[in-house]
Amino acid sequence: MRLVLVGPPGAGKGTQATFICERLGIPQISTGEMLRAAKAAGELAQEHVDVMAEGGLLPDAVALDLVRTRLDAPDSRQGFLLDGFPRTEPQARGLDAILEKRGTALDVVLALEVPEDLLIERAVLRRTDRRTGQIYHLKYNPPPADAELEHRTDDHEDVVRKRIAAYRDMTAGLLPFYERQGKLRRVDGAGTVDEVEEQVFAALGTAD
Ligand code: ADP
Ligand code: AMP
Repeated sequence: MRLVLVGPPGAGKGTQATFICERLGIPQISTGEMLRAAKAAGELAQEHVDVMAEGGLLPDAVALDLVRTRLDAPDSRQGFLLDGFPRTEPQARGLDAILEKRGTALDVVLALEVPEDLLIERAVLRRTDRRTGQIYHLKYNPPPADAELEHRTDDHEDVVRKRIAAYRDMTAGLLPFYERQGKLRRVDGAGTVDEVEEQVFAALGTAD
């Protein structure tokens, strides 16, 4: 299955992506993760590091190049889940063109819908175990005592608000875009992790 997960920052994309990828046996492709890895390796241009720190979006060409290269890997041939990409209409059109060249297309676009007040709390209290990449939440999914916790620099409230604004301005328009393609499935992401997981699999038509 070729899937896209769309939703504002803190909606639960990474959390649900883990469940989906495990169940369907497809790779998770997160442009945010790839960019953070590039930054940690000292391979991301300073101007792009600055844009990420401020909660803005990187140029479409940067995101498209990352995804085009990643989709060349053999593990993506049988399907994939894109998390955090596309984020603009040019990225969505670019993705369609990449897939069309390969004689394939997206199957489903899942939109995780979560009210804004919940997003702030989810993002600000998010922590990640740097050894395993596992996502935790200080209130809703507390980490074990031995976790090596990381707090993303863009998960402070002022930056989270800017990221939500960027989603509203640049990304939310993808929902009608994919609705016109007949690929959009909306999921209420406001419940518990388990409740959302159930709805995600119901939307995918995969029995739990
Ligand atoms: P995204 O990838 O969309 O930015 P994450 O999956 O990283 O979102 O989730 C953001 C934060 O919210 C994390 O701390 C995660 O543990 C927590 N979280 C995810 N889904 C839920 C949920 N349904 N209820 C409560 N907290 C959640
Ligand atoms: P995420 O991990 O998806 O929340 O992404 C973290 C940050 O990486 C975003 O706030 C952007 O600065 C950048 N980013 C990730 N994916 C994209 C994308 N598809 N297009 C532009 N910028 C992106």
